[in-house]
Amino acid sequence: MHNYRAFPKSLDFWPIILNASITHINTSMLPEFIELLDEHLAYHDHEIHEDYIDIFVHSKRESVSCSFCGQISSRIHSRYPRCFSDLPILGKKVNIHLLNRNYLCLNPDCKHTTFAETFDCIDSNSKKSKRLLAEIQRVSVEVSSVTAAKLLSDGVVDIGKSTICNLLQKNNKFGG
Ligand SMILES: [Zn+2]
Repeated sequence: MHNYRAFPKSLDFWPIILNASITHINTSMLPEFIELLDEHLAYHDHEIHEDYIDIFVHSKRESVSCSFCGQISSRIHSRYPRCFSDLPILGKKVNIHLLNRNYLCLNPDCKHTTFAETFDCIDSNSKKSKRLLAEIQRVSVEVSSVTAAKLLSDGVVDIGKSTICNLLQKNNKFGG
Protein backbone atom coordinates (compact mmCIF):
# COMPACT_ATOMS: atom_id res chain seq x y z
CA MET A 1 0.00 0.00 0.00
CA HIS A 2 0.99 3.59 -0.41
CA ASN A 3 2.13 5.79 2.37
CA TYR A 4 2.10 9.56 2.40
CA ARG A 5 4.88 11.95 3.01
CA ALA A 6 4.88 15.71 3.44
CA PHE A 7 7.88 17.91 2.71
CA PRO A 8 9.02 20.70 5.02
CA LYS A 9 7.75 24.16 4.14
CA SER A 10 11.10 25.75 4.85
CA LEU A 11 12.59 24.67 1.52
CA ASP A 12 9.53 25.06 -0.58
CA PHE A 13 6.02 23.87 -0.13
CA TRP A 14 5.75 20.31 -1.36
CA PRO A 15 2.34 18.73 -1.70
CA ILE A 16 1.82 15.31 -0.28
CA ILE A 17 3.60 12.89 -2.55
CA LEU A 18 2.59 9.29 -3.05
CA ASN A 19 5.23 6.70 -2.66
CA ALA A 20 5.48 2.94 -2.52
CA SER A 21 7.69 0.86 -0.22
CA ILE A 22 10.93 2.77 0.09
CA THR A 23 14.44 2.32 1.33
CA HIS A 24 16.34 5.39 2.41
CA ILE A 25 20.03 5.44 1.63
CA ASN A 26 22.26 8.45 2.13
CA THR A 27 24.19 8.79 -1.07
CA SER A 28 26.55 11.73 -1.09
CA MET A 29 26.82 11.91 -4.89
CA LEU A 30 23.23 12.95 -5.47
CA PRO A 31 23.66 16.69 -4.71
CA GLU A 32 26.53 16.79 -7.18
CA PHE A 33 24.52 14.84 -9.75
CA ILE A 34 21.80 17.51 -9.49
CA GLU A 35 24.32 20.34 -9.70
CA LEU A 36 25.66 18.85 -12.92
CA LEU A 37 22.11 18.63 -14.22
CA ASP A 38 21.35 22.31 -13.63
CA GLU A 39 23.14 24.97 -11.60
CA HIS A 40 19.79 26.43 -10.51
CA LEU A 41 18.52 23.19 -9.01
CA ALA A 42 19.42 21.85 -5.58
CA TYR A 43 19.06 18.35 -4.22
CA HIS A 44 16.50 17.95 -1.47
CA ASP A 45 15.81 14.26 -0.90
CA HIS A 46 15.62 10.93 -2.66
CA GLU A 47 13.94 7.55 -2.51
CA ILE A 48 15.48 4.39 -3.89
CA HIS A 49 13.13 1.82 -5.41
CA GLU A 50 13.83 -1.51 -7.01
CA ASP A 51 14.63 -0.26 -10.49
CA TYR A 52 14.37 3.52 -10.20
CA ILE A 53 15.30 6.43 -7.97
CA ASP A 54 13.06 9.39 -7.22
CA ILE A 55 15.06 12.55 -6.59
CA PHE A 56 13.32 15.59 -5.13
CA VAL A 57 14.82 18.92 -6.03
CA HIS A 58 14.02 22.61 -5.62
CA SER A 59 14.99 25.81 -7.36
CA LYS A 60 17.85 27.84 -5.86
CA ARG A 61 16.65 31.08 -7.44
CA GLU A 62 14.98 33.77 -5.34
CA SER A 63 13.90 35.75 -8.35
CA VAL A 64 13.61 35.06 -12.07
CA SER A 65 13.12 37.17 -15.17
CA CYS A 66 9.81 37.03 -16.99
CA SER A 67 10.12 34.76 -20.01
CA PHE A 68 8.04 37.24 -22.04
CA CYS A 69 9.35 40.70 -21.12
CA GLY A 70 12.49 40.00 -19.08
CA GLN A 71 11.51 41.92 -15.95
CA ILE A 72 12.76 40.36 -12.72
CA SER A 73 10.15 39.08 -10.30
CA SER A 74 10.33 37.41 -6.90
CA ARG A 75 6.56 37.19 -6.42
CA ILE A 76 5.54 33.54 -6.51
CA HIS A 77 2.02 33.05 -7.85
CA SER A 78 1.66 29.26 -7.60
CA ARG A 79 3.49 25.99 -7.85
CA TYR A 80 2.79 22.83 -9.79
CA PRO A 81 4.39 19.40 -9.46
CA ARG A 82 6.60 18.41 -12.33
CA CYS A 83 8.36 15.13 -12.96
CA PHE A 84 10.91 14.29 -15.62
CA SER A 85 13.39 11.54 -16.39
CA ASP A 86 17.14 12.01 -16.25
CA LEU A 87 20.24 9.89 -16.83
CA PRO A 88 20.32 6.65 -14.81
CA ILE A 89 22.38 6.24 -11.66
CA LEU A 90 23.94 2.85 -10.86
CA GLY A 91 21.66 1.11 -13.32
CA LYS A 92 18.50 2.64 -11.92
CA LYS A 93 16.20 4.92 -13.87
CA VAL A 94 15.98 8.41 -12.44
CA ASN A 95 12.87 10.53 -11.96
CA ILE A 96 13.40 14.13 -10.93
CA HIS A 97 10.54 15.72 -8.98
CA LEU A 98 10.25 19.45 -8.81
CA LEU A 99 7.63 21.93 -7.67
CA ASN A 100 7.84 24.30 -10.58
CA ARG A 101 7.02 27.88 -9.66
CA ASN A 102 4.78 30.26 -11.51
CA TYR A 103 5.75 33.89 -10.91
CA LEU A 104 3.73 37.06 -11.23
CA CYS A 105 5.03 39.51 -13.79
CA LEU A 106 4.80 42.99 -12.24
CA ASN A 107 5.51 44.84 -15.46
CA PRO A 108 2.24 46.69 -16.36
CA ASP A 109 3.27 46.68 -20.02
CA CYS A 110 3.75 42.92 -20.17
CA LYS A 111 0.96 40.96 -21.85
CA HIS A 112 1.37 38.10 -19.38
CA THR A 113 0.46 38.25 -15.71
CA THR A 114 2.21 34.99 -14.80
CA PHE A 115 5.06 32.96 -16.18
CA ALA A 116 6.68 29.66 -15.24
CA GLU A 117 10.27 29.35 -14.08
CA THR A 118 12.32 27.53 -16.70
CA PHE A 119 15.54 25.53 -16.44
CA ASP A 120 18.37 25.08 -18.91
CA CYS A 121 18.42 21.32 -18.35
CA ILE A 122 14.97 20.72 -19.86
CA ASP A 123 12.60 22.19 -22.43
CA SER A 124 9.37 23.67 -21.06
CA ASN A 125 6.98 20.84 -21.85
CA SER A 126 9.45 17.99 -21.98
CA LYS A 127 9.37 14.92 -19.75
CA LYS A 128 13.05 14.17 -20.29
CA SER A 129 16.16 16.20 -19.48
CA LYS A 130 18.26 17.41 -22.40
CA ARG A 131 21.18 15.23 -21.37
CA LEU A 132 18.92 12.15 -21.32
CA LEU A 133 17.57 13.02 -24.78
CA ALA A 134 21.16 13.33 -26.01
CA GLU A 135 21.89 9.86 -24.63
CA ILE A 136 18.76 8.42 -26.25
CA GLN A 137 19.81 9.88 -29.58
CA ARG A 138 23.36 8.61 -29.18
CA VAL A 139 22.09 5.05 -28.66
CA SER A 140 19.37 5.28 -31.29
CA VAL A 141 21.57 6.26 -34.23
CA GLU A 142 23.60 3.07 -33.75
CA VAL A 143 20.76 0.53 -33.78
CA SER A 144 17.16 0.15 -34.96
CA SER A 145 14.53 2.02 -32.95
CA VAL A 146 13.08 -1.30 -31.72
CA THR A 147 16.49 -2.39 -30.41
CA ALA A 148 17.14 1.10 -28.98
CA ALA A 149 13.81 1.02 -27.10
CA LYS A 150 14.74 -2.38 -25.63
CA LEU A 151 18.27 -1.30 -24.68
CA LEU A 152 17.13 1.96 -23.11
CA SER A 153 14.16 0.47 -21.26
CA ASP A 154 16.61 -1.83 -19.49
CA GLY A 155 18.01 0.52 -16.87
CA VAL A 156 18.03 3.87 -18.68
CA VAL A 157 14.53 5.16 -19.34
CA ASP A 158 11.11 3.79 -20.25
CA ILE A 159 10.72 4.72 -23.87
CA GLY A 160 8.82 3.39 -26.88
CA LYS A 161 9.93 2.89 -30.47
CA SER A 162 7.65 5.69 -31.72
CA THR A 163 9.13 8.24 -29.31
CA ILE A 164 12.60 7.34 -30.57
CA CYS A 165 11.48 7.70 -34.19
CA ASN A 166 9.97 11.12 -33.42
CA LEU A 167 13.16 12.24 -31.69
CA LEU A 168 15.37 11.15 -34.58
CA GLN A 169 13.06 12.82 -37.10
CA LYS A 170 13.07 16.06 -35.12
CA ASN A 171 16.83 15.92 -34.93
CA ASN A 172 17.17 15.44 -38.70
CA LYS A 173 14.86 18.37 -39.35
CA PHE A 174 17.16 20.69 -37.49
CA GLY A 175 20.24 19.33 -39.22
CA GLY A 176 21.88 17.59 -36.38
ZN1 LIG B 1 6.54 40.00 -18.18
